[in-house]
Amino acid sequence: MTFAIFGLAVSPGIAIGRAHLISNATLEVAHYAVKERNVPAEIERFAEAISTVQTELEGVRREASASGAPAEMAAFVDIHSMILADPMLCEAPKQIIRDNRCNAEWALVQQMEQLVAEFDQMEDAYLRERRQDVVQVVERVLKALSGHHRKLGKREQRADEDLIVVAHDLSPADTIQFKSLKIGGFVTDLGGSTSHTAIVARSLAIPAVVGMHNARPLIRDDDLLIVDGSRGVLIVEPDAKVLEEYRLRREALDLERSKLKRLKSAKAITLDGEHISLQANIEVPRDVDQVKAVEADGVGLYRTEFLFMNRDTLPDEDEQFEAYRAVVKAMAGKPVTIRTLDIGADKTARALRGTERQSPNPALGLRAIRYCLAEPQLFLTQLRALLRAGHYGKLKILVPMLAHTHEIEQTLLLIEHAKEQLRQTRHKFDEDVDVGGMIEIPAAALALGPFLKRLRFLSIGTNDLIQYTLAIDRTDEAVAHLYDPLHPAVLRLVGGTIQAGLKADIPVAVCGEMAGDAQFTRLLIGMGLRQFSMHPSQILEVKQQVVMADAMALSTKVTRLLRGEEPDKLREQLERL
Ligand code: PEP
Ligand code: MG
Repeated sequence: MTFAIFGLAVSPGIAIGRAHLISNATLEVAHYAVKERNVPAEIERFAEAISTVQTELEGVRREASASGAPAEMAAFVDIHSMILADPMLCEAPKQIIRDNRCNAEWALVQQMEQLVAEFDQMEDAYLRERRQDVVQVVERVLKALSGHHRKLGKREQRADEDLIVVAHDLSPADTIQFKSLKIGGFVTDLGGSTSHTAIVARSLAIPAVVGMHNARPLIRDDDLLIVDGSRGVLIVEPDAKVLEEYRLRREALDLERSKLKRLKSAKAITLDGEHISLQANIEVPRDVDQVKAVEADGVGLYRTEFLFMNRDTLPDEDEQFEAYRAVVKAMAGKPVTIRTLDIGADKTARALRGTERQSPNPALGLRAIRYCLAEPQLFLTQLRALLRAGHYGKLKILVPMLAHTHEIEQTLLLIEHAKEQLRQTRHKFDEDVDVGGMIEIPAAALALGPFLKRLRFLSIGTNDLIQYTLAIDRTDEAVAHLYDPLHPAVLRLVGGTIQAGLKADIPVAVCGEMAGDAQFTRLLIGMGLRQFSMHPSQILEVKQQVVMADAMALSTKVTRLLRGEEPDKLREQLERL
């Protein structure tokens, strides 16, 4: 039966393919009693799941060796095989099934919890970290018990169809892993349009719809799906006519995209000769390939927190230095703005568990610079790595979530301290590195004095600035309709910051999602903005707007428009700009 579900359009384009359901609560298993006479069958079901996973791991091991994957990958699979073969995991649950006459899933999770508790007590850090491996192996067995033991890799091979991930929710850490898989699109029940999950989706340039409320329970594995990431619609089991219509629309979109490619080498200059710098936002060093492919003017925002995710241990100074240097060197003299760790709220890292507090209201809690100032050793490690990488090109340090003068001062002091440490260890580094701050808290935008006095550049993070100005959680689909970049209060803060920067001769950029949305390009140019940073996939569309704009005329029109107090009219007037 064909039906459509509506959600929030977060990453444009059309994907047509088969559903792959992702369970994000695998460990919350049902508990039910098994009749005495069915106990042997339940034990047999458990043993079969173990042997399915064993075969699966052997397959992964073979593929890893054949494809020349790094040695760590093979070692990692070996550890999982050893854990699986350990009687504590493959035998003990059988006894639990026998003693309690319960289902295999529940018995396995009981045993896992006991093992994990023992790992947590271990003195040796390496062994303690193996706890996560135990959990991952148990997740694989649970999947096998529920019959979903096919791997993503197997589905990928269907040449004619995309793989569409359907999940209740995806964390930014989950989504970043899609960068190494071939995913056609995704849909989730939860999420807002500027959540980091949505931002990562846009950077992958795959169609995505979030905030669908109840899509996941209505979709089965392998259902045929159309994801319309431009209109925020998901069509389940479309009929032949609808399918044909969407195939045609997909072709038209592809054609439009390839036309835009002609703008790649064109300069981003307005009709009246104003140069606009179009830079790129990246999450991982390999995103630089995309940045170079569209000939961006630099990296305007490198979100370093993704280097800290999906791993059990923190990246040390050398690992961070290598990652930052790789980006700086690849950009060959163009500016690279690297943001210090912005962890917290929806971005979590399991390697930081223990130092990360469970905050009652994470978006207002100990995130970003607040977290770094509370963990100076962790911060100093990153600062040393950044300063060292600065020796190899034009690196700028950007500090997120600043609001108070003392936060700016403490940060600058720590940077001086990191420099002193590097002098003592005789490392080469950039003595005169530019340090800038993000304007993403209304208090910062309203009291810019200390920012303009102590910092060398500013970058407006409109995603958080809108979240905090309008008091709406950017990850919560229930209030997504209130997320409005055109609210007069937001425009006043953005416009005021740009103008204050111009007056003080301090460069101001916008690096939030507003900068990459072509419908706002003319408005921002009219406000005086000359530096935009966005995902590489959005640069050509924005450039198209730039080359058709007259900055001087826009400035007059926008000044007039912002004087008006009627937000509803503003949207209309914006279209006529
Ligand atoms: C922002 O808040 O606009 C921003 C660019 O930072 P992030 O989206 O990573 O919070
Ligand atoms: Mg932010």
